[in-house]
Amino acid sequence: MQANPKSKPWKPTDCQTCPIPEILLANSSPNLVLEGGIKVGIMGMNRRMEVNAFCSKHLVDVPEPQVGCKQCALEKPGLRELFGEG
Ligand SMILES: [Zn+2]
Repeated sequence: MQANPKSKPWKPTDCQTCPIPEILLANSSPNLVLEGGIKVGIMGMNRRMEVNAFCSKHLVDVPEPQVGCKQCALEKPGLRELFGEG
């Protein structure tokens, strides 16, 4: 987790709902940049993590971080060899 100046101070309890570890487990793209912020509702209720994902290679937003950048998926090295097209 990189320091995010827009985010509220980090609390250990935030980790319980933090989706980033799951995203990293599901997606190993080295180009995926995750920016997490803690959003707090009225009176400090509804604390939740909000994660924005971004591909540093294609410079596009990634709407589904668990899935990852679709362009990266298409370019993944090794896939063509796997299918005998390399
Ligand atoms: Zn990409």
